[in-house]
Amino acid sequence: MKITTAEFIISNSDVSKCPTERLPEYAFIGRSNVGKSSLINMITNHKNLAKTSGKPGKTQLINHFKINSNWFLVDLPGYGYARVSKKTKEVFQEFITDYFETREQLVCAFVLIDIRLEAQKIDIEFIEYLGESEIPFCIVFTKADKISKTKIDSHVAAYKKQLIAHNWEEMPPYFVTSATEGTGKDTLLNYIEEINVE
Ligand code: GDP
Repeated sequence: MKITTAEFIISNSDVSKCPTERLPEYAFIGRSNVGKSSLINMITNHKNLAKTSGKPGKTQLINHFKINSNWFLVDLPGYGYARVSKKTKEVFQEFITDYFETREQLVCAFVLIDIRLEAQKIDIEFIEYLGESEIPFCIVFTKADKISKTKIDSHVAAYKKQLIAHNWEEMPPYFVTSATEGTGKDTLLNYIEEINVE
């Protein structure tokens, strides 16, 4: 799939105010600073569609972008940023879970993971939540340019091992990406096209 148009529609923290237009949705989520904005800009061919922020944890909103006039890319708030107060955290946790539990047009969630890091507790908890809620999801490894090409497979294998240790029988579909080098863009977009069931 080629992205020809990408248009910002609305930001909000209230799922009931998300667009009513019934288009398939693909949501992107991950820990603050994982590279989510950079990845969204990379796959949509924009420099600044999603705001890359010097202040992680600031953009705690659900952002809808309409792509090619026929699907929504949803940029969800980054989670797990230490400097967000407990109260704020609880609020965004609730609207994130509200989003997943009510948005029937969601086709797939893409959980972003920094390829350099060992599995983080909060990511595993989030993946477990998606599994328990029966929400289809994939893993998108980010910042692949930061490790050598020969190490990519071993980092993915290590992550898989850690998921298995947390009772996952198999690795969900996954993508290796780099926003700075454009890696993984076509594969990710083709996957989105393939799983579009509506
Ligand atoms: P977000 O908070 O998840 O939206 O993360 P950002 O997209 O704002 O990125 C956080 C930081 O990581 C920024 O300094 C980016 O320049 C950097 N970054 C993001 N993606 C990549 C990547 O693929 N490669 C490298 N080397 N740096 C990246």
